[in-house]
Amino acid sequence: MNDRVSVYIGLGSNLQNPKRQVETALEELAQLPDTSLLDHSSLYRSRPVGPQDQDDFINAVAHLSTALAADSLLDALQQLEQQHHRVRERRWGPRSLDLDLLLYGARTLDTPRLKVPHPESAKRSFVLLPLHEVAPTDLRIPGLGLLQTLVTGTERSDIERLA
Ligand code: ATP
Ligand code: CA
Ligand code: CA
Repeated sequence: MNDRVSVYIGLGSNLQNPKRQVETALEELAQLPDTSLLDHSSLYRSRPVGPQDQDDFINAVAHLSTALAADSLLDALQQLEQQHHRVRERRWGPRSLDLDLLLYGARTLDTPRLKVPHPESAKRSFVLLPLHEVAPTDLRIPGLGLLQTLVTGTERSDIERLA
């Protein structure tokens, strides 16, 4: 068995009962093979990235411990997106479920299929704020710096933490 790696997954949905999509996906992440769900953030509501003619998103971040290799984990995440009937139409368009692999331990990966840390993380409050809830305060994102510093500078006008 491989050593377990601490990973963070960003969840997002703005179609077909987004809150339920995200809550169900958290349960499904907990069921992945050789993986445990350690923690998850609150849910957040955020304005969409890209095209504005779509509904707000519900977002969250999950903290997992896994023995899966990064590419196997991505396979599993994409399979879950398919189970949620995700259809890819336009870039950054509406979707029933989006699962992004934000961090895979302290590793940096750069293949056509998988870039980790997720390259847009530092710019997105809907990633940084929920990540900050579940990550250690001294978490360093490889190539991007201290999470604490990134959170301090993030825009908060387009995001709301839900009770
Ligand atoms: P963004 O990546 O800007 O958040 P998106 O989530 O809408 O956009 P998708 O259509 O879900 O993008 O994914 C496009 C491709 O991104 C996937 O097929 C996958 O191979 C690739 N990808 C690269 N790095 C990652 C990662 N860290 N997590 C998830 N997918 C990734
Ligand atoms: Ca995404
Ligand atoms: Ca994605």
